[in-house]
Amino acid sequence: MTAETAPRPIPQPGILDIAPYVGGESKVAGANRVVKLSSNENPHGPSPRAQAAFAAAAGDLAVYPDGGHAALRRAIAEVHGLDPARIFCGNGSDELLALLCQAYAGPGDEVVHSAHGFALYAINALAVGATPVAAAERELTTDVDAILAACTERTRIVFVANPNNPTGTWIDRDALARLAEGIPPRALLVIDGAYAEYVRDARYEPGAELVERYPNIVMTRTFSKIHGLAALRLGWMVAPDHVVDALNRFRPPFNVNAPALAAGEAAIRDRDWVERCAVLNEVWRDWLAKRLAAAGAPCLPSEGNFLLAEFGEGRAEKADAFLKARGIIARRTASYGLPGHLRITVGDEAACRAVADAVDAFAASA
Ligand code: PMP
Repeated sequence: MTAETAPRPIPQPGILDIAPYVGGESKVAGANRVVKLSSNENPHGPSPRAQAAFAAAAGDLAVYPDGGHAALRRAIAEVHGLDPARIFCGNGSDELLALLCQAYAGPGDEVVHSAHGFALYAINALAVGATPVAAAERELTTDVDAILAACTERTRIVFVANPNNPTGTWIDRDALARLAEGIPPRALLVIDGAYAEYVRDARYEPGAELVERYPNIVMTRTFSKIHGLAALRLGWMVAPDHVVDALNRFRPPFNVNAPALAAGEAAIRDRDWVERCAVLNEVWRDWLAKRLAAAGAPCLPSEGNFLLAEFGEGRAEKADAFLKARGIIARRTASYGLPGHLRITVGDEAACRAVADAVDAFAASA
């Protein structure tokens, strides 16, 4: 028996169909200073109060964290006007997406997402043996009719990021309400609001009010984006009681670590910091979008902290290499089926100016 034919453990169905998630790059060979615009992080970092809370937590590392996340859930509930009993915290919103798939989908089931939806939806569906189903979009925007048409009696979960990553596009309150109303009652609608705090348009609704009204809707949020705490891995969700109950039965008992609980609580209470970051993002996102369009790389209308810029097939790769040579790391979107685009996080003023100047130079060189 050779090593290849010897019996060995075999992963569950679906696991080996997964193309591993590739995070944003963070290094450029030969460059010691880079502008990292590949993971939609907050260029201004977390609230100073969150940093202080994190530092204070360093004095208490020998004891387990509060497995019930009580203080953090109370803070989230106060700030967002929600019932703390219906808030559930996770090790990044990534963990929430995975737990939801584990609880509600399995072999033979379908998990619907939009064609250019966040990559982890299909990955988590495959990981539990379910079949991901991609619904068509309209102009790279979530299409409610296409999602509803993609739902069958086998659909167990529908994931919608609003705004969506990597497109930055979003649907308004009325469209979201129509989606909520049309989803089959046995399917769970997961509204992923990772970028919700960045949206300035009054027609936007993150989804909490729908969670109140329907037994099959949850809304997930993250501390990785506007709260600037990506390193700590912290996310939260508001969900009906029965969903919270199901997930609490099997989640890791201490899934959120103590420094993350402390920093998260301080971060969510610092509303001025959140507002300041949202305003800066809007100003520089719109400034950068204009400059990129003028340089021949038009952007989709984004309400997130990033832009999806269209360079054209064949050109996006060259633009990416050109930016990298200047120490600027964007995100290629070929794995999302968008080979002609680059996703660029809205950095601080200096980063936005550096990107605009580099794209001007690229256009002049091409
Ligand atoms: N949802 C969306 C739409 C995202 O873009 C991301 C991060 N890239 C996540 C969820 C996961 O974020 P985290 O696990 O850091 O909370």
